[in-house]
Amino acid sequence: MDFKNKIDYHIHSEYSFDVYGVDKQVRIFDICETALKKGLTQIAITDHYDINTVEQGFIMGLDFESRRRDIIRAKKAYEGKLKVLCGIELGQPHQVPEKAKQILKENKFDYVIASYHNNVDVPDFYILDYPNIDRQLLVQYYEDYLCQTIDHIKWGIGRISTLGHLGYPIRYYIRNGLGGILNPYDPKYMKITKEIFNLLIKNDIALEVNTSGWRQGMNNSMAFDGMVQYYIDMGGKLLTVGSDSHTLDNVGDDIDKQYGILYKMGVKNITAFESGKPYFVDIV
Ligand SMILES: [Zn+2]
Ligand SMILES: [Zn+2]
Repeated sequence: MDFKNKIDYHIHSEYSFDVYGVDKQVRIFDICETALKKGLTQIAITDHYDINTVEQGFIMGLDFESRRRDIIRAKKAYEGKLKVLCGIELGQPHQVPEKAKQILKENKFDYVIASYHNNVDVPDFYILDYPNIDRQLLVQYYEDYLCQTIDHIKWGIGRISTLGHLGYPIRYYIRNGLGGILNPYDPKYMKITKEIFNLLIKNDIALEVNTSGWRQGMNNSMAFDGMVQYYIDMGGKLLTVGSDSHTLDNVGDDIDKQYGILYKMGVKNITAFESGKPYFVDIV
């Protein structure tokens, strides 16, 4: 089936700390060119700003000014062909709330993904020492992750556009052969997940369907398809889709496939943003 209005609302450029110096080709203009070639109609450049770890000096921040300059140029150059949003992937804003507020105030982003990469005083799930870590501790970390996601969203009310990659820890548990240590659909986790979705729905914050899980060994999206279905069954309508690409190759990855999965769930439109406000875009 052919889908229209293919949107990738989660793209990292050379300005992200985990792309910078690794792949110099991921320039904003090259991303736009690639997106156009792949038939996308809208993209959001959403570079990382993990506020707590930037504040602690573990990762670099963002060159907001140069990035904005590049994005404004791209917006003009691709006008009428490709809509380009100046976005951000804000990590753990609720852990450094005042600084996060300041960043949002100083930078008028078109689109804000609130992502959750690490529990308080615990490293990013990406870099935990999986071969040596206690299994029970990982189970506890997942529960903490879900509970803290509630605070994360509460901080974001009126400030954020979408909740990024719900289920992030599970990606690393599976990749490290530990997928069996917990079942995210266990009623005790679903009770918290329901609270998360209620908060999103009540406050017009979208749920991101991040397609990176398909290419990163999860064989699922984040949030997982079962969770997305649960959100829809609860009356959730605001769904954003993004590849979480860090290379040109991955721009637009699995957007088509994801549209197909969403369509089977009864979804006929996904969510885009204009002047910070969500609106629906038909996919068929
Ligand atoms: Zn992320
Ligand atoms: Zn990302």
